[in-house]
Amino acid sequence: MSLSVEEEPLLEGALQAARDTRFLAVEAGVRHKTAEIFASLFGTTPALIVADQKTFVAAGREVQESFRIAGHELSKPFIFGPHVYAETPCVKELQKALEGVQGIPIAVGSGTINDLTKLVAHRLGRPYLAVATAASMDGYTAYGASITHYGSKQTFDCPAPKGVLADLDVIARAPRGMNASGYADLLAKEVAGADWIVAEAAGVEPIDPSVWATVQNRLRAWVDSPAGIARNEPASLRRLVNGLMMSGFAMQAAQTSRPASGAEHQFSHLWDMQHHTHQGTAPSHGFKVGIGTLATLAFYEALLRRDLGRLDVEAAIASWLSPRQVERRIVAIFGAGELADKAKEETRAKTPSLDELRAQLTRLRDGWPELRSKLVRHLTPFQKVREALRDAGCPHEPEQIGISRARLRLSYEQAYYIRRRFTVLDFAQRAGIMDSAVEHLFSARGPWPISASATENRK
Ligand SMILES: [Zn+2]
Repeated sequence: MSLSVEEEPLLEGALQAARDTRFLAVEAGVRHKTAEIFASLFGTTPALIVADQKTFVAAGREVQESFRIAGHELSKPFIFGPHVYAETPCVKELQKALEGVQGIPIAVGSGTINDLTKLVAHRLGRPYLAVATAASMDGYTAYGASITHYGSKQTFDCPAPKGVLADLDVIARAPRGMNASGYADLLAKEVAGADWIVAEAAGVEPIDPSVWATVQNRLRAWVDSPAGIARNEPASLRRLVNGLMMSGFAMQAAQTSRPASGAEHQFSHLWDMQHHTHQGTAPSHGFKVGIGTLATLAFYEALLRRDLGRLDVEAAIASWLSPRQVERRIVAIFGAGELADKAKEETRAKTPSLDELRAQLTRLRDGWPELRSKLVRHLTPFQKVREALRDAGCPHEPEQIGISRARLRLSYEQAYYIRRRFTVLDFAQRAGIMDSAVEHLFSARGPWPISASATENRK
């Protein structure tokens, strides 16, 4: 096992607890040892590289060379063309190509190549190895593949890779913005953790202490040098990669993305589902999550200013929408269609009975002083997180990813409806304070003031 010295026990522990992954190496030059590591995991079974044109140049050729030197059989690489996306047609294309060829796949690439290979390997009943070419997201060591299926992003159940190699030399040369995206995806774990704290306090989803520790215990150290990410400094990149791998391990252990994904990811998923593009392309996952993180954090700060220990539970229950009113509201804010149907389905799955609603609100009200101080201790102030994103080279204003303030404002309610996971948005919705909290954020005193006339023109 090859691990960074400072965090060796931490990663080693996560690796031992992992269900699927048996090997992780985070080091400069490790791509040259791929054949040796492959043989230690899979013996003499032939290997098969999956890459795209760019990732093949970035690392695939040298991975191939390591097999040639070792005299290990390697099938002809499968190299995607320029239009490779994590979506169903590419899954089919890869599956068709791999079906007829012997070999355990080696995914050489980042999110897209890894997700495609993860799903296809699983469907073909084969394990796989991942060679990371960028620190762009936390999916390398995660359970499940995120694939767009008929226009909507879905997580398909499938095991994590048997081994992951992250070559810091390759990662330092990743295309501009990719490592910054991973930085934003990692920074997001703080608000994701806050949402888990709230879900536990509401009695909805208890925290698993060891999974929690995997992501949260060293999070501040992993994200403490944003400027180092912008400059591709090896020590900063190493901490970033370690943090992303640990987040993936936490999801692998939990078999859900809860430890690494809360309301901030819902903003990103919403914009994915709306097929949002900016200047002709979809902003990266991490960049959308970064803006979602700011949106969620600002929302938390608005809630933390209130005395929710005096929440009027019965008044909140009286204004709780009936299932029919909810469906009408969903159509009103999404328009009729697939997205509204998905939102109805997700919202139904998390709708409490009135007794459950009363129990959740009573717990949250009575536990507010303790919950509030936990959240205050846990969360980094909005201004600091915004600066960290800026220093790492990430968008830190919604307009930088093509989201207007008016759209961001509407996104709060939409993000609440599109996913069944309990987050701070559910807390606010149940307590009947969603609208007033959102209004504050876009008022003259909030982070994103909008003038009254702009509000009227919102789409
Ligand atoms: Zn993410």
